[in-house]
Amino acid sequence: MEPEKENSGTLINSAIADESKFEYKRILTGDRPTGPLHLGHYAGSLKNRIRLQDRYETFILIADIQALTTNFEHPEKLKENIFLVALDYLSAGIDPNLSTIVIQSMIPEISELTTFFSMLVSVNLLKHNPTIKTEAKERGYKELTYGFLGYPVSQTADIAIFKADLVPVGIDQLPHIEIARKIVRKFNELYCGKLIEPFALIGKFPRLVGLDGNLKMSKYYGNAINLSDDFDSIKIKIRSALTDKNRIHPADKGNPDICTIYSYHMAFSDETLVNETGYNCRNGKIGCVKCKENLFAVIKNLLEPMNERRARYLNNKDEIWDIMLTGTKKARLTAIETIKEVKESMKILYAPE
Ligand code: ATP
Ligand code: MG
Repeated sequence: MEPEKENSGTLINSAIADESKFEYKRILTGDRPTGPLHLGHYAGSLKNRIRLQDRYETFILIADIQALTTNFEHPEKLKENIFLVALDYLSAGIDPNLSTIVIQSMIPEISELTTFFSMLVSVNLLKHNPTIKTEAKERGYKELTYGFLGYPVSQTADIAIFKADLVPVGIDQLPHIEIARKIVRKFNELYCGKLIEPFALIGKFPRLVGLDGNLKMSKYYGNAINLSDDFDSIKIKIRSALTDKNRIHPADKGNPDICTIYSYHMAFSDETLVNETGYNCRNGKIGCVKCKENLFAVIKNLLEPMNERRARYLNNKDEIWDIMLTGTKKARLTAIETIKEVKESMKILYAPE
């Protein structure tokens, strides 16, 4: 299930979308409302969604049920977190006229489909899912709940219920898309169904490392720069980020390949600055302090327009709930249609609806 790598570092995997080859129609993507969105979300997935929202019909799911897979002890936090994620979307440039924002738990048909799909996947396959294994290890879980293990099954239902063919995600989600393809294929084979096998669209920076330079950027690991952070905190966070430890003086020759800041330059700076930074670091012509200041300027530039939109939306909080509820209502019509077709395929539509 591990993606293969070409020499160039380009990923080849049959679950990965090839934008040049296929004519895709509908995007489904989303985030778990477990806290504010960060630069990792942006680089891995959100940027692609913003880029593609005028080309494809886009559904963005705020996956509150999936948030419970790890945060079941605090369901009372979901409502506020849902609001914050929607605010992050709109601030980042998701246009509610182009993208439909949906609250997962308000579409009960997703849960229904999750149950049907759960019969089509072995516990073994779910247990060997590398993403779940990594996450369980990093979170120190000794025992996995049924819901945590079944997270990819629920995700398959999210995608299938909206008949999406394209799923912009970070690389950690690729094994889940592979599972989704397997489940859908099995459904179609068994029941002569017409569900769609989705492809993953992986962002240019599929796994942004956290400020610690070790784990992936994650709110859970406390190593993230949030889209909503103020500039003073961002400056402090960038200053604290791990660089090439062997470099003591600005004139020491550095290795950008092991530097967190350089990886952020690659994700967010323009090509000229990336090349300059790499060259200057290797040749001891720029110190880490200056390099971090350059990065701060780039991040500030990226976030400034987001902050303007954020301020506008914060003046009108009801509008955010309106956008979500209108989106959810619209999306539910599609979900109802799909679940009817699913039941027809399974020959369990007992009475006309
Ligand atoms: P966190 O750990 O910060 O709570 P998460 O992994 O729970 O984040 P999800 O809601 O599961 O966040 O992921 C939403 C999307 O963002 C997924 O497509 C995921 O691949 C992507 N993503 C999350 N973190 C990163 C990262 N550090 N780099 C690239 N993509 C990421
Ligand atoms: Mg995750």
